[in-house]
Amino acid sequence: MNKKQSHLDIKGVSISYKMAIVLLITTLTSILIIGSIYFFKTQSELSDVVVDHLRKLSKHQVFQIHQAIESNRDRLALISSRTQLRISLLEYAEKDKNDPGTEHLERINKIIFDAKQSIPDFNKLTIADSNGKIVVSTSPQTINTEVAKKYYQKNDSHSYVTTTVESMGSSKNQLVLTQWLFYNGIRVGLLIVYSDLSMFENLMNSQKDVGSSEELLIVYKDEKGKLQSLLPLKGAGSVSQTVNIDPFELSKKERDSLQPLIDYRGQEVLAVTHVLPEINWGFISKVDVEEAMHIVDSQKSFLLISALLSSLVVMIIAFIIGQSITKPVIDIAYVATMISEGDLSRRIQTFTRDEIGVLSIAFNQMADKLIEANKLLEDRVREKTLELTTANANLTKLNSELEIISMEDSLTGIANRRAFDNCINSEWKRAMRTGSPIALILLDVDYFKLYNDKLGHQAGDKCLNRLATVLSTYSRRGSDLVARYGGEEFAILLPNTGREECLSISHKINTAVKEEAILHPSSKVSQVITVSIGVGAVVPGLGFPVEKFIEQVDLALYRAKEAGRDRVVIVDESDYPESMVHQ
Ligand code: GH3
Ligand code: MG
Ligand code: MG
Repeated sequence: MNKKQSHLDIKGVSISYKMAIVLLITTLTSILIIGSIYFFKTQSELSDVVVDHLRKLSKHQVFQIHQAIESNRDRLALISSRTQLRISLLEYAEKDKNDPGTEHLERINKIIFDAKQSIPDFNKLTIADSNGKIVVSTSPQTINTEVAKKYYQKNDSHSYVTTTVESMGSSKNQLVLTQWLFYNGIRVGLLIVYSDLSMFENLMNSQKDVGSSEELLIVYKDEKGKLQSLLPLKGAGSVSQTVNIDPFELSKKERDSLQPLIDYRGQEVLAVTHVLPEINWGFISKVDVEEAMHIVDSQKSFLLISALLSSLVVMIIAFIIGQSITKPVIDIAYVATMISEGDLSRRIQTFTRDEIGVLSIAFNQMADKLIEANKLLEDRVREKTLELTTANANLTKLNSELEIISMEDSLTGIANRRAFDNCINSEWKRAMRTGSPIALILLDVDYFKLYNDKLGHQAGDKCLNRLATVLSTYSRRGSDLVARYGGEEFAILLPNTGREECLSISHKINTAVKEEAILHPSSKVSQVITVSIGVGAVVPGLGFPVEKFIEQVDLALYRAKEAGRDRVVIVDESDYPESMVHQ
């Protein structure tokens, strides 16, 4: 096939395109449906796994924090339980001017310094007297200052440990544990321990399973009821950032499926919350949705890439299938077009092994048959043409023979009446045109009926034949014509012949007939065949009808008969109408 096939006028969308579109839609739809189902299923499952992990992790961390606090409280309780401390405090409180109590203070001091030394978490230990005035402290500068009222004003009559968070500026908090010291039911002082929160920080940063954005927030409510972070927030670097996930509120609700929440950074997070009611702390264990769902996001990209790759593969497959289907069809269409335009030699060259291949073979066979049929038809036409040409030639020959026959008298072989009529008409016109004379001899056998009656019709025929032969000798020029005028009458037309000449010829004929000596036993004028002759010659003028002239000559013949037969009578010149004779 040459390039011309691409010019086949295919209107509308080709089969290849349609197939590609159908395959593409089918593939993409199935990829999208299956992909979406898996995507959402995975997303939901992953979300559950992440939340479950957060829950377990936060439970573990909260437990550890709780343990750490309890341990500090226990240490505090241990210090408080020291009798010497409480006695010393009581005795110091009962000091007078004589005894400044220095000895008691030293004892108390020793106890708290020892405690600070043995417990590294304790930053500062302070003991205030029952009036709230600091008596001893590991930070000596605070001695004799008043204890913050929030610790002191608590009108507790029990010796249990209270836990408070104290702000140390925007970036740090410390834990404050207090316990009233009693001796023999008397409140002798307040033990205040300031503890560092770094132990919690270590705990919180210890485990990162889901991602780097994983974070545990410990929150408490300050005096105004506002949520505060215990430790500096990882994303903010300070404790003063507003914490907008409230574990105290959320813990009241049963939350089976956790919807993403917005954290203090404005990020979407998956979060679980816990509350430690004993110390009124809340815990938020959270991770960024983006990070947690990272795997799902890569699944999304994978889905997109696989959709693109599938589309590409589908396009290639569609192209190949389209080619394998449409190419043979285009071949057939092209060859069919060529054949329809008259190029019967065109054939399909390549064959597929499918139904189209069978169609192609059948098509080629059909084209072969078409050529055969065409050839047969051409042969037949050629044969017929030849037959017709021959028949036409024969007909032409027959026609010309017929023409001759129609101009010839069958009995005598001389010109017949039709030939005579044609000839006299044209010669008459010529004479009229040229102003030349024209002569006519009309001749009738005398008593021929009697001849026939006597000698028989066949003899009559023979007689007529002999007369014709005699008369023919008087045709001197090419333009002269001897014709059988009808029955036993003859006519001799002599163009360019004047009156005298035709009269002379007439006499010669009259004599020659008699000299032929055809016996006529029943003739009343002779013993042989005689003829009566009427003759006329004229130069016809315009408007002189030839019929009129013939009539005049016939009349002369009639006169010859009347006058006794066997004679010549010439038309008198005065018998022609004067106006019609050429002057
Ligand atoms: P007239 O002298 O007055 O001419 O007498 P006629 O007998 O010749 O004239 P008529 O007209 O009475 O007869 C003509 C005859 O010529 C009659 C017919 O039998 C005969 N005849 C005409 N044509 C032929 C022909 O072809 N062959 C034969 N054998 N006879 C013919
Ligand atoms: Mg006659
Ligand atoms: Mg006659």
